[in-house]
Amino acid sequence: MSVVVVGASLAGFSLVRDLRECGYDGGITVVGDEIHPPYDRPPLSKEFLHDDLDIALGDTEDPGTRWILGRRAVGITSTAIGPGVTLDDGTAVAGQSLVLATGARARSLPGARGLHGIHTLRTIDDARAIRAALRTARTIVIIGAGLIGAEIASTAATLGVAATIVELAIDPLSGVFGPQLGALCADLHTANGVRLRTGVAVAEFLGDEHVSAVRLTDGTLLAADAVIIGIGAIPNTEWAQDSPLHIDNGFVTDSLCRTTIPDIYAIGDCARAYQDALGTHHRSEHWSNATAQARIAAAAIMGAPFAHIPSTYFWSRQYGRMIQFAGHRRPDDAVRFIDGDPSTPSCTALYERDGEPVAVFAIDNARLFTRYRKQIERRPAAIATL
Ligand code: FAD
Repeated sequence: MSVVVVGASLAGFSLVRDLRECGYDGGITVVGDEIHPPYDRPPLSKEFLHDDLDIALGDTEDPGTRWILGRRAVGITSTAIGPGVTLDDGTAVAGQSLVLATGARARSLPGARGLHGIHTLRTIDDARAIRAALRTARTIVIIGAGLIGAEIASTAATLGVAATIVELAIDPLSGVFGPQLGALCADLHTANGVRLRTGVAVAEFLGDEHVSAVRLTDGTLLAADAVIIGIGAIPNTEWAQDSPLHIDNGFVTDSLCRTTIPDIYAIGDCARAYQDALGTHHRSEHWSNATAQARIAAAAIMGAPFAHIPSTYFWSRQYGRMIQFAGHRRPDDAVRFIDGDPSTPSCTALYERDGEPVAVFAIDNARLFTRYRKQIERRPAAIATL
Protein backbone atom coordinates (compact mmCIF):
# COMPACT_ATOMS: atom_id res chain seq x y z
CA MET A 1 0.00 0.00 0.00
CA SER A 2 1.22 3.55 -0.65
CA VAL A 3 -0.15 7.03 0.01
CA VAL A 4 0.54 10.24 -1.92
CA VAL A 5 0.02 13.58 -0.17
CA VAL A 6 -0.03 16.91 -2.00
CA GLY A 7 0.87 19.85 0.25
CA ALA A 8 3.74 19.66 2.75
CA SER A 9 2.42 21.91 5.49
CA LEU A 10 0.32 21.45 8.64
CA ALA A 11 -2.37 19.16 7.19
CA GLY A 12 0.05 17.08 5.06
CA PHE A 13 2.64 16.79 7.83
CA SER A 14 -0.01 15.85 10.41
CA LEU A 15 -1.41 13.20 8.08
CA VAL A 16 2.00 11.47 7.78
CA ARG A 17 2.34 11.45 11.58
CA ASP A 18 -1.22 10.19 12.09
CA LEU A 19 -0.88 7.41 9.51
CA ARG A 20 2.22 6.16 11.34
CA GLU A 21 0.40 6.42 14.67
CA CYS A 22 -2.44 4.33 13.19
CA GLY A 23 0.17 1.63 12.42
CA TYR A 24 0.52 2.32 8.69
CA ASP A 25 3.94 1.04 7.58
CA GLY A 26 3.71 1.47 3.81
CA GLY A 27 5.36 4.10 1.65
CA ILE A 28 4.30 7.75 1.71
CA THR A 29 5.25 10.40 -0.85
CA VAL A 30 4.64 14.05 0.06
CA VAL A 31 4.82 16.71 -2.65
CA GLY A 32 5.13 20.35 -1.60
CA ASP A 33 5.72 23.40 -3.75
CA GLU A 34 7.57 25.36 -1.05
CA ILE A 35 11.29 24.67 -0.70
CA HIS A 36 11.10 24.86 3.09
CA PRO A 37 10.49 21.76 5.21
CA PRO A 38 7.02 21.85 6.84
CA TYR A 39 6.60 24.82 9.19
CA ASP A 40 3.87 26.27 11.37
CA ARG A 41 2.00 29.37 10.13
CA PRO A 42 0.36 30.91 13.26
CA PRO A 43 3.67 32.40 14.52
CA LEU A 44 4.12 34.19 11.17
CA SER A 45 1.71 36.98 12.13
CA LYS A 46 2.85 37.00 15.76
CA GLU A 47 6.26 36.39 17.37
CA PHE A 48 7.99 35.48 14.07
CA LEU A 49 7.56 39.12 12.99
CA HIS A 50 10.00 39.99 15.81
CA ASP A 51 12.58 37.19 15.45
CA ASP A 52 13.53 34.33 13.18
CA LEU A 53 12.27 31.58 15.50
CA ASP A 54 12.38 27.87 14.79
CA ILE A 55 8.87 27.14 13.52
CA ALA A 56 9.54 23.70 12.00
CA LEU A 57 6.60 21.33 12.53
CA GLY A 58 8.92 18.42 13.28
CA ASP A 59 11.42 16.14 11.62
CA THR A 60 11.04 14.61 8.17
CA GLU A 61 13.43 11.73 8.82
CA ASP A 62 10.93 8.85 8.66
CA PRO A 63 12.67 6.43 6.24
CA GLY A 64 9.40 5.30 4.67
CA THR A 65 8.40 8.84 3.66
CA ARG A 66 9.75 10.61 0.58
CA TRP A 67 9.46 14.42 0.65
CA ILE A 68 9.52 16.03 -2.78
CA LEU A 69 9.85 19.72 -1.94
CA GLY A 70 9.95 22.66 -4.34
CA ARG A 71 7.73 20.81 -6.83
CA ARG A 72 4.14 21.69 -7.65
CA ALA A 73 1.41 19.22 -8.52
CA VAL A 74 -0.25 20.35 -11.75
CA GLY A 75 -2.93 17.72 -12.32
CA ILE A 76 -4.61 14.60 -11.02
CA THR A 77 -4.19 11.25 -12.76
CA SER A 78 -5.81 7.88 -12.57
CA THR A 79 -3.35 4.96 -12.80
CA ALA A 80 -3.42 1.18 -12.50
CA ILE A 81 -2.11 1.50 -8.89
CA GLY A 82 -4.65 4.18 -7.92
CA PRO A 83 -4.94 7.98 -8.02
CA GLY A 84 -1.86 10.12 -8.56
CA VAL A 85 -0.55 13.51 -9.58
CA THR A 86 1.71 14.91 -12.24
CA LEU A 87 4.31 17.43 -11.14
CA ASP A 88 5.58 20.62 -12.78
CA ASP A 89 8.77 18.86 -13.93
CA GLY A 90 6.72 16.29 -15.86
CA THR A 91 7.25 13.43 -13.38
CA ALA A 92 4.34 11.52 -11.87
CA VAL A 93 3.59 9.85 -8.54
CA ALA A 94 0.69 7.58 -7.65
CA GLY A 95 -0.52 5.48 -4.73
CA GLN A 96 -3.52 3.55 -3.47
CA SER A 97 -4.69 6.72 -1.71
CA LEU A 98 -4.20 10.38 -2.58
CA VAL A 99 -4.62 13.15 -0.01
CA LEU A 100 -5.04 16.75 -1.13
CA ALA A 101 -3.66 19.20 1.45
CA THR A 102 -2.83 22.21 -0.69
CA GLY A 103 -4.15 24.83 1.72
CA ALA A 104 -4.95 28.37 0.68
CA ARG A 105 -3.13 31.48 -0.52
CA ALA A 106 -3.52 35.10 0.52
CA ARG A 107 -6.04 37.20 -1.41
CA SER A 108 -4.67 40.44 -2.85
CA LEU A 109 -6.11 43.61 -4.36
CA PRO A 110 -6.05 44.91 -7.90
CA GLY A 111 -3.44 47.62 -8.15
CA ALA A 112 -1.17 45.99 -5.56
CA ARG A 113 1.10 44.59 -8.25
CA GLY A 114 3.87 46.69 -9.69
CA LEU A 115 4.76 48.64 -6.55
CA HIS A 116 7.34 47.51 -4.01
CA GLY A 117 6.40 47.59 -0.34
CA ILE A 118 2.93 46.04 -0.68
CA HIS A 119 2.75 42.68 1.08
CA THR A 120 0.43 39.78 1.76
CA LEU A 121 1.13 37.19 4.48
CA ARG A 122 0.92 33.45 4.00
CA THR A 123 4.45 32.04 3.83
CA ILE A 124 7.66 32.23 5.83
CA ASP A 125 9.18 34.34 3.05
CA ASP A 126 6.22 36.78 3.23
CA ALA A 127 6.75 37.06 7.00
CA ARG A 128 10.49 37.75 6.62
CA ALA A 129 9.73 40.50 4.07
CA ILE A 130 7.14 42.08 6.41
CA ARG A 131 9.57 41.86 9.34
CA ALA A 132 12.22 43.69 7.31
CA ALA A 133 9.65 46.33 6.32
CA LEU A 134 8.55 46.84 9.94
CA ARG A 135 12.18 47.43 10.97
CA THR A 136 12.51 50.50 8.75
CA ALA A 137 8.95 51.77 8.34
CA ARG A 138 7.61 54.70 10.35
CA THR A 139 4.06 54.40 9.06
CA ILE A 140 2.20 51.41 7.69
CA VAL A 141 -1.29 50.78 6.39
CA ILE A 142 -2.95 47.41 6.95
CA ILE A 143 -5.86 46.55 4.69
CA GLY A 144 -8.33 44.29 6.49
CA ALA A 145 -9.20 44.12 10.19
CA GLY A 146 -9.51 40.33 10.33
CA LEU A 147 -7.42 38.22 12.68
CA ILE A 148 -4.22 38.36 10.62
CA GLY A 149 -4.46 42.12 10.01
CA ALA A 150 -5.14 42.64 13.72
CA GLU A 151 -2.12 40.55 14.74
CA ILE A 152 0.19 42.44 12.38
CA ALA A 153 -1.15 45.75 13.72
CA SER A 154 -0.44 44.53 17.22
CA THR A 155 3.17 43.68 16.31
CA ALA A 156 3.61 47.03 14.56
CA ALA A 157 2.38 48.81 17.70
CA THR A 158 4.93 46.97 19.86
CA LEU A 159 7.68 47.97 17.45
CA GLY A 160 6.65 51.63 17.61
CA VAL A 161 5.48 51.73 13.99
CA ALA A 162 2.41 53.95 13.43
CA ALA A 163 -0.28 51.70 11.95
CA THR A 164 -3.66 52.41 10.40
CA ILE A 165 -6.08 49.60 9.63
CA VAL A 166 -8.51 50.14 6.77
CA GLU A 167 -11.59 47.91 6.80
CA LEU A 168 -14.47 47.80 4.35
CA ALA A 169 -16.98 46.50 6.91
CA ILE A 170 -18.44 48.96 9.39
CA ASP A 171 -18.21 46.43 12.22
CA PRO A 172 -14.96 44.43 11.84
CA LEU A 173 -14.96 40.85 13.18
CA SER A 174 -18.72 40.93 13.77
CA GLY A 175 -19.05 38.13 11.19
CA VAL A 176 -16.71 36.03 13.32
CA PHE A 177 -17.67 36.97 16.88
CA GLY A 178 -20.97 38.86 16.48
CA PRO A 179 -21.32 42.65 16.82
CA GLN A 180 -20.78 42.95 20.58
CA LEU A 181 -17.64 40.81 20.88
CA GLY A 182 -16.38 41.94 17.45
CA ALA A 183 -16.53 45.53 18.72
CA LEU A 184 -14.71 44.48 21.89
CA CYS A 185 -11.81 43.13 19.76
CA ALA A 186 -11.85 46.17 17.46
CA ASP A 187 -11.58 48.44 20.50
CA LEU A 188 -8.24 46.80 21.34
CA HIS A 189 -6.72 48.62 18.35
CA THR A 190 -7.62 52.13 19.43
CA ALA A 191 -6.72 51.30 23.05
CA ASN A 192 -3.23 50.43 21.80
CA GLY A 193 -2.69 53.44 19.57
CA VAL A 194 -3.60 51.82 16.23
CA ARG A 195 -5.98 53.83 14.06
CA LEU A 196 -8.97 51.92 12.68
CA ARG A 197 -10.84 53.28 9.64
CA THR A 198 -14.00 51.26 8.94
CA GLY A 199 -16.65 51.38 6.23
CA VAL A 200 -14.18 52.56 3.61
CA ALA A 201 -12.22 50.85 0.83
CA VAL A 202 -8.92 51.34 -0.95
CA ALA A 203 -9.24 53.44 -4.12
CA GLU A 204 -5.59 53.28 -5.21
CA PHE A 205 -2.01 52.76 -4.14
CA LEU A 206 0.34 55.67 -4.85
CA GLY A 207 4.08 55.64 -5.27
CA ASP A 208 6.94 55.68 -7.67
CA GLU A 209 8.32 52.09 -7.73
CA HIS A 210 7.79 51.88 -3.93
CA VAL A 211 4.40 52.51 -2.30
CA SER A 212 4.23 55.87 -0.53
CA ALA A 213 0.50 56.31 0.20
CA VAL A 214 -2.94 54.75 -0.01
CA ARG A 215 -5.93 56.73 -1.24
CA LEU A 216 -9.27 55.63 0.24
CA THR A 217 -12.64 55.79 -1.48
CA ASP A 218 -13.67 58.73 0.72
CA GLY A 219 -10.66 60.67 -0.60
CA THR A 220 -8.46 60.30 2.49
CA LEU A 221 -4.76 59.95 1.73
CA LEU A 222 -2.80 57.78 4.16
CA ALA A 223 1.01 57.96 4.01
CA ALA A 224 2.56 54.46 4.00
CA ASP A 225 6.15 53.20 4.02
CA ALA A 226 4.64 49.73 3.64
CA VAL A 227 1.19 48.24 3.08
CA ILE A 228 0.05 44.83 4.27
CA ILE A 229 -3.06 43.32 2.74
CA GLY A 230 -4.93 40.89 5.02
CA ILE A 231 -8.26 40.32 3.31
CA GLY A 232 -8.62 36.56 3.49
CA ALA A 233 -7.46 33.51 1.59
CA ILE A 234 -8.39 31.52 -1.52
CA PRO A 235 -8.23 27.70 -1.49
CA ASN A 236 -5.54 26.22 -3.74
CA THR A 237 -7.68 24.02 -5.98
CA GLU A 238 -7.13 25.35 -9.52
CA TRP A 239 -4.27 22.94 -10.16
CA ALA A 240 -6.81 20.07 -10.02
CA GLN A 241 -9.62 21.75 -11.95
CA ASP A 242 -9.33 19.42 -14.96
CA SER A 243 -10.14 16.41 -12.78
CA PRO A 244 -13.70 15.19 -12.12
CA LEU A 245 -13.41 16.27 -8.46
CA HIS A 246 -16.25 18.39 -7.11
CA ILE A 247 -14.65 21.77 -6.42
CA ASP A 248 -16.69 24.62 -4.98
CA ASN A 249 -14.81 26.99 -2.67
CA GLY A 250 -12.53 24.04 -1.83
CA PHE A 251 -12.43 20.33 -2.55
CA VAL A 252 -15.86 19.15 -1.45
CA THR A 253 -15.77 16.12 0.86
CA ASP A 254 -18.02 14.12 3.14
CA SER A 255 -17.50 14.16 6.91
CA LEU A 256 -14.71 11.54 6.55
CA CYS A 257 -12.73 13.88 4.26
CA ARG A 258 -13.51 11.69 1.21
CA THR A 259 -13.84 13.60 -2.05
CA THR A 260 -16.19 12.63 -4.85
CA ILE A 261 -13.50 10.33 -6.33
CA PRO A 262 -12.77 7.03 -4.52
CA ASP A 263 -9.47 6.97 -2.60
CA ILE A 264 -8.93 10.72 -2.91
CA TYR A 265 -9.23 12.70 0.33
CA ALA A 266 -8.96 16.42 1.04
CA ILE A 267 -7.98 18.00 4.35
CA GLY A 268 -7.15 21.38 5.87
CA ASP A 269 -7.72 24.84 4.39
CA CYS A 270 -8.31 23.50 0.85
CA ALA A 271 -11.18 21.21 1.90
CA ARG A 272 -14.89 21.99 2.29
CA ALA A 273 -16.08 19.09 4.37
CA TYR A 274 -19.58 18.13 5.40
CA GLN A 275 -20.01 18.95 9.08
CA ASP A 276 -22.68 17.01 10.90
CA ALA A 277 -22.96 19.66 13.60
CA LEU A 278 -23.73 22.34 10.99
CA GLY A 279 -25.76 20.18 8.63
CA THR A 280 -23.83 21.64 5.70
CA HIS A 281 -20.40 21.80 4.04
CA HIS A 282 -17.95 24.22 5.59
CA ARG A 283 -14.37 25.26 4.74
CA SER A 284 -12.40 26.14 7.84
CA GLU A 285 -9.11 28.06 7.83
CA HIS A 286 -8.00 27.22 11.33
CA TRP A 287 -5.08 25.23 12.71
CA SER A 288 -7.13 22.78 14.78
CA ASN A 289 -9.33 21.92 11.78
CA ALA A 290 -6.28 20.93 9.67
CA THR A 291 -4.95 18.62 12.40
CA ALA A 292 -8.40 17.15 13.15
CA GLN A 293 -9.06 16.40 9.48
CA ALA A 294 -5.61 14.79 9.14
CA ARG A 295 -6.58 12.41 11.97
CA ILE A 296 -9.93 11.66 10.34
CA ALA A 297 -8.41 11.00 6.88
CA ALA A 298 -5.65 8.79 8.36
CA ALA A 299 -8.29 6.71 10.16
CA ALA A 300 -10.44 6.52 7.02
CA ILE A 301 -7.47 5.34 4.91
CA MET A 302 -6.65 2.72 7.54
CA GLY A 303 -10.26 1.65 7.99
CA ALA A 304 -9.88 2.53 11.68
CA PRO A 305 -12.57 4.03 13.93
CA PHE A 306 -12.77 7.78 13.40
CA ALA A 307 -13.92 10.86 15.18
CA HIS A 308 -16.19 13.48 13.66
CA ILE A 309 -14.83 16.90 12.78
CA PRO A 310 -14.92 18.84 16.05
CA SER A 311 -16.60 22.23 16.18
CA THR A 312 -14.63 25.31 15.22
CA TYR A 313 -11.79 26.33 17.52
CA PHE A 314 -9.25 29.08 17.01
CA TRP A 315 -7.15 31.53 18.92
CA SER A 316 -5.52 34.85 18.19
CA ARG A 317 -2.88 36.82 20.09
CA GLN A 318 -3.17 40.57 19.95
CA TYR A 319 -1.62 43.28 22.13
CA GLY A 320 -0.46 40.67 24.64
CA ARG A 321 -4.00 39.27 24.96
CA MET A 322 -5.11 35.73 24.13
CA ILE A 323 -8.45 35.63 22.31
CA GLN A 324 -10.14 32.21 21.96
CA PHE A 325 -13.33 31.05 20.29
CA ALA A 326 -14.98 27.62 20.04
CA GLY A 327 -18.32 26.32 18.82
CA HIS A 328 -20.75 27.34 16.09
CA ARG A 329 -22.49 30.64 16.56
CA ARG A 330 -25.44 32.01 14.60
CA PRO A 331 -26.30 35.70 14.27
CA ASP A 332 -29.39 35.35 16.48
CA ASP A 333 -27.61 33.64 19.40
CA ALA A 334 -27.75 35.53 22.68
CA VAL A 335 -24.41 36.62 24.22
CA ARG A 336 -23.99 36.37 27.98
CA PHE A 337 -20.85 37.26 29.94
CA ILE A 338 -20.14 34.62 32.56
CA ASP A 339 -16.90 36.16 33.79
CA GLY A 340 -15.81 39.79 33.55
CA ASP A 341 -17.26 42.16 30.96
CA PRO A 342 -15.99 44.38 28.14
CA SER A 343 -14.42 46.77 30.65
CA THR A 344 -12.37 44.14 32.52
CA PRO A 345 -8.90 42.92 31.45
CA SER A 346 -10.15 39.35 30.98
CA CYS A 347 -13.62 38.08 30.18
CA THR A 348 -15.56 35.01 29.03
CA ALA A 349 -18.86 35.04 27.17
CA LEU A 350 -21.21 32.30 26.06
CA TYR A 351 -23.32 32.32 22.93
CA GLU A 352 -26.64 30.74 23.87
CA ARG A 353 -29.46 29.29 21.80
CA ASP A 354 -32.67 28.25 23.55
CA GLY A 355 -30.80 28.81 26.81
CA GLU A 356 -28.02 26.32 25.94
CA PRO A 357 -24.36 27.27 25.26
CA VAL A 358 -23.39 26.72 21.59
CA ALA A 359 -20.14 28.70 21.46
CA VAL A 360 -17.70 30.34 23.85
CA PHE A 361 -15.42 33.36 23.57
CA ALA A 362 -12.72 34.43 25.98
CA ILE A 363 -9.99 36.98 26.37
CA ASP A 364 -7.21 35.88 28.73
CA ASN A 365 -9.27 33.23 30.47
CA ALA A 366 -8.04 29.90 29.10
CA ARG A 367 -9.23 27.85 32.08
CA LEU A 368 -12.89 28.84 31.95
CA PHE A 369 -12.82 28.84 28.16
CA THR A 370 -11.55 25.25 28.06
CA ARG A 371 -14.21 24.11 30.52
CA TYR A 372 -17.03 25.49 28.33
CA ARG A 373 -15.36 24.36 25.11
CA LYS A 374 -15.42 20.78 26.40
CA GLN A 375 -19.05 21.13 27.46
CA ILE A 376 -20.02 22.44 24.01
CA GLU A 377 -18.06 19.66 22.24
CA ARG A 378 -20.01 17.07 24.20
CA ARG A 379 -23.35 18.39 22.91
CA PRO A 380 -23.20 18.15 19.08
CA ALA A 381 -26.95 17.58 18.79
CA ALA A 382 -27.65 20.92 20.42
CA ILE A 383 -25.81 22.83 17.70
CA ALA A 384 -27.18 20.97 14.71
CA THR A 385 -28.88 22.75 11.79
CA LEU A 386 -28.02 26.14 10.42
P1 FAD B 1 -1.32 25.43 4.28
O1 FAD B 1 -0.66 25.71 5.59
O2 FAD B 1 -1.75 26.57 3.43
O3 FAD B 1 -0.35 24.49 3.43
C1 FAD B 1 -0.62 24.08 2.13
C2 FAD B 1 0.70 23.76 1.46
O4 FAD B 1 0.46 23.20 0.17
C3 FAD B 1 1.55 25.01 1.24
O5 FAD B 1 2.88 24.74 1.55
C4 FAD B 1 1.37 25.28 -0.25
O6 FAD B 1 2.44 26.02 -0.80
C5 FAD B 1 1.31 23.85 -0.78
N1 FAD B 1 0.71 23.75 -2.11
C6 FAD B 1 -0.30 24.48 -2.64
N2 FAD B 1 -0.57 24.07 -3.91
C7 FAD B 1 0.28 23.05 -4.18
C8 FAD B 1 0.49 22.23 -5.31
N3 FAD B 1 -0.24 22.35 -6.42
N4 FAD B 1 1.47 21.29 -5.27
C9 FAD B 1 2.23 21.15 -4.14
N5 FAD B 1 2.08 21.91 -3.04
C10 FAD B 1 1.11 22.84 -3.04
N6 FAD B 1 -5.03 29.35 12.74
C11 FAD B 1 -5.41 29.38 14.05
O7 FAD B 1 -6.26 28.57 14.45
N7 FAD B 1 -4.88 30.29 14.92
C12 FAD B 1 -3.96 31.22 14.52
O8 FAD B 1 -3.51 32.04 15.33
C13 FAD B 1 -3.57 31.23 13.15
N8 FAD B 1 -2.66 32.14 12.71
C14 FAD B 1 -2.32 32.15 11.38
C15 FAD B 1 -1.41 33.11 10.93
C16 FAD B 1 -1.05 33.15 9.59
C17 FAD B 1 -0.09 34.20 9.12
C18 FAD B 1 -1.61 32.22 8.66
C19 FAD B 1 -1.23 32.27 7.19
C20 FAD B 1 -2.49 31.26 9.10
C21 FAD B 1 -2.85 31.21 10.46
N9 FAD B 1 -3.76 30.26 10.95
C22 FAD B 1 -4.13 30.26 12.28
C23 FAD B 1 -4.35 29.26 10.04
C24 FAD B 1 -3.53 27.96 9.97
O9 FAD B 1 -2.17 28.24 9.91
C25 FAD B 1 -4.00 27.18 8.74
O10 FAD B 1 -5.33 26.78 9.00
C26 FAD B 1 -3.12 25.98 8.44
O11 FAD B 1 -1.84 26.39 8.04
C27 FAD B 1 -3.74 25.13 7.33
O12 FAD B 1 -2.87 24.10 7.00
P2 FAD B 1 -2.92 23.39 5.57
O13 FAD B 1 -1.82 22.40 5.58
O14 FAD B 1 -4.29 22.98 5.26
O15 FAD B 1 -2.62 24.56 4.50
